[in-house]
Amino acid sequence: MVVLKGIGVVSGIAIGKLVVYMHPDKHISRATTEDTEGEIALFNEARSKAIVQLEDLYESSVEDLGEVNASIFVAQEMLLEDSQYIEYVEDKIRESHYNAGYAVVLASDEFSRLFTTIEDKYMQSHVADVRDVSERLLRILCGSEIEMAEPGEPCILASDDFSAGDIVQFNRERVLGIATMFGSPASHASILAGTMNLPSVVGLGQEMLSIYEGRCAILNGIKGELIIDPDKKTLDRMKRKQKEYEEQQKMLLLLKGKNNVTKSGAYINVYANISSTEGVDTALLYDAGGIGLLRSEFIYIESQTYPSEEDQFNVYRQVLERMRGRKVIIRTLDLGTDKQAAYFRPEKENNPALGFRAIRISLAQPAIFKTQLRALYRASVYGNLDILFPLIISKDEVLQIKKIIKEVKKELDSEGVPYRKDTRIGIMIETPAAVLISDELAKEVDFFSIGTNDLTQYTLAIDRQNPKLESYFNALHPAVYKMIEMTAQNAHKAGIQVDICGEAAADPEYTQSFIDMGIDALSVSPNMVLPLRKKIRECE
Ligand code: PEP
Ligand code: MG
Repeated sequence: MVVLKGIGVVSGIAIGKLVVYMHPDKHISRATTEDTEGEIALFNEARSKAIVQLEDLYESSVEDLGEVNASIFVAQEMLLEDSQYIEYVEDKIRESHYNAGYAVVLASDEFSRLFTTIEDKYMQSHVADVRDVSERLLRILCGSEIEMAEPGEPCILASDDFSAGDIVQFNRERVLGIATMFGSPASHASILAGTMNLPSVVGLGQEMLSIYEGRCAILNGIKGELIIDPDKKTLDRMKRKQKEYEEQQKMLLLLKGKNNVTKSGAYINVYANISSTEGVDTALLYDAGGIGLLRSEFIYIESQTYPSEEDQFNVYRQVLERMRGRKVIIRTLDLGTDKQAAYFRPEKENNPALGFRAIRISLAQPAIFKTQLRALYRASVYGNLDILFPLIISKDEVLQIKKIIKEVKKELDSEGVPYRKDTRIGIMIETPAAVLISDELAKEVDFFSIGTNDLTQYTLAIDRQNPKLESYFNALHPAVYKMIEMTAQNAHKAGIQVDICGEAAADPEYTQSFIDMGIDALSVSPNMVLPLRKKIRECE
């Protein structure tokens, strides 16, 4: 089994035989010639041939792909007729005596550079056109065009690179996915593959060789991976994933853009829980209404030392910007127990789950806490941010947090740094203590988020990490259920929002009960977003 890593540009999983088309080497040397007029004639012949090819491509794709997509070929044809482009190539041949191929390479570099330096995004998109057109000319000049023979059965097509023209020539019925050695996500070929919904991975590198022709392969456009000769276990796992993905896609088609309303019209938000910036892609892929829990500790765990304010700010800003105004709830660091960062020098504890973790660490080390809060408030102007604090057990902790927030805001004000003054703060309700004083706590914050994982652990005295106790770990034990109910009632009495973000939020058996309790949002793993949204629409 060989696993090659690339960049996933179109999601989806394809499983099938690999058919490899490698373009023959183009052999473009920087040769000089005395017969400059002959080279110019060769260039113009290649240009005419390329124009005819592009006209054919436009005609054959406009119906299936629509005017917008097919217009790529019109733009490329215009470039081949552009007097500046033609003059540039002809001058290079005439003045420097270069051969036609080398003059085209120079034109490709020069015009790409020119388009890149122009600030206009539309003009920048022509870089891909210049490269595609030049590549087409070079293949004609070197006689290295490949005939795309129609594969006899549906298969995964692989190549050193595909052009937009290659992509539209494929018979969609026979192509399961696309893999390339080179290529980029921004190329027209990648954009067209997306329009055709063809799972695609680019940039697999030189190891993606012709020797794999005819071998069984799995193309994972979600992860950006090509697996050749998968073992049985991998094949079975990926078949299951493929089925899951296809079901999700069907659901997505049905639910995209629709509200999460029950039959009787009650509305509930469905958000995604994520633990890395990559999670944002999956959350968006599954059309989550927002991020209900970003476990910020991943930034600390992945770092060799305390992450700087700037590093954190960049992560938060990126997430907020990519969620484009949808709700993003970021939880401050929740280290401790199984989540450790060595540079915090955690002491060995007899009962780590009852030990030095989460908000206890933040309040004991206010400088570290302030760095995180400054990064969060600075990022707040880039989207719709709420800040969430983990493992609260007392009103005093909330008051300490609010005091530190006040100091942070004062600092930012004095530095003239902008932040959103209306950034809401919430607390995790994940200890029985917090539930029992939730009436008091509700007066101090803007929202609650119930963490059923820890709430179950602490209510039932069952270690959530202990596999032997798995059968006892019941997030909907009547005691936990009552805790959730009590929290929801106290939140609503105080007029604040209450969400659930533990794993129980995704359990379809309890969706109806959560709706009846008036829970405002359920935040679940990204892959559970669509099944839950579907379930909500079936509830009363
Ligand atoms: C929880 O405890 O339910 C929760 C969502 O937080 P975590 O799983 O990160 O402890
Ligand atoms: Mg927790």
